[in-house]
Amino acid sequence: MNISQRKKEVRVTMHGGTISYEDFNDARPWWRTRIFTEIITSRDGVGDLLALLSERAPRPFFIIDEILKPQSAFAPIFARSGKYVYDASHSEPRARDVDSVTALLRNEREMPDAIVGVGGGATMDLAKAVSICLANPRPAAEYQGYGMDMERGPDIWVLPTLAGTGAEVTPIAVLRGPEKKLGINDDNVAPKVAVIDPALSAGARKFNRFFSMMDCYFHHREITRSKTSAPDAALDSRDGADIARRVLSRDLSEFDIDKAAESAVASVLGGSSSIGGRVGVNHAISYGLSNASPHLPHSVAVTISMLACGDIYSDGGFDDTVKFLEINGIARPTAREYGIFESHIPGMTKTALGMEKLWHSHFGENWRDTVDEKFISDIYKSIVSI
Ligand SMILES: [Zn+2]
Repeated sequence: MNISQRKKEVRVTMHGGTISYEDFNDARPWWRTRIFTEIITSRDGVGDLLALLSERAPRPFFIIDEILKPQSAFAPIFARSGKYVYDASHSEPRARDVDSVTALLRNEREMPDAIVGVGGGATMDLAKAVSICLANPRPAAEYQGYGMDMERGPDIWVLPTLAGTGAEVTPIAVLRGPEKKLGINDDNVAPKVAVIDPALSAGARKFNRFFSMMDCYFHHREITRSKTSAPDAALDSRDGADIARRVLSRDLSEFDIDKAAESAVASVLGGSSSIGGRVGVNHAISYGLSNASPHLPHSVAVTISMLACGDIYSDGGFDDTVKFLEINGIARPTAREYGIFESHIPGMTKTALGMEKLWHSHFGENWRDTVDEKFISDIYKSIVSI
């Protein structure tokens, strides 16, 4: 069977009903966008990762989330010597985290031939940033942004332990710098290989599984609404929105392997669609919130934002969000809980207004006819009033 035939069949399955863990291993490729990453679906993620590395990159360096330590599945990685155990409880890696790991590696006699991120979005982003910063002389904060013309570092491999972030595919390493949260955006930070085993998210807390899928859903919703996204990205997002909606329309209290497989599919689509696509208003507003509160997880920030954007996402994004929270018995998150108050509005408004590409994405070329300081600060006023 040739690839295009297979693609078509897989999509029919995806539109028609659920994707089971059984289907997952044979489902590749379920995306249309050309991605930089080789996706390897697996039922023994840790075993397959280590076996492949021993063939292709015999001197790997692991960056692994500390929270995985009690889980026996990850013991073979914790037992290795070339690793950095990372406390990923902050919402994004800080630029100085990148600098400390690169300093550590520069002191080694031999450079690793792969940097392997094992964890959720923050850990994968740290691995991505460490790889590229190893090959470039300045501190990580100086590379936050676009078009920096950077050298390529060691290959990046990832083993996601949480679905929804899309970080397993994207050419972005989001960092919290001394001044702002902004990614290193460079094709060379896209992972070369992602080994994806849905069973590895079994140990993740419901809070994380739920909110990372919410972010995934928002990415898809925003890209399908975007006026500047490539057609393939919009199609990947349409599939991704359907799948994420299906996952979030059920109670996620208990880990379920079939839901995990669907989440993994939606997550890769979130990454693939963001390569040619662009999110919109909801993410623009969330960046202001994130800059105002260093402990606010990105996935919660976008949820708070959506709950204030009912008029803008009146075609279902807002109603779905309310429904998903209810089904899962989760209270609507508020900015207040994360220490964001009225005094933050001017700063948040300035941050959000600077996200020109995202406003353009949602409203089109004439976005300035709709969006100004007042438009944005009114949204923040409604957010802090709750
Ligand atoms: Zn997001």
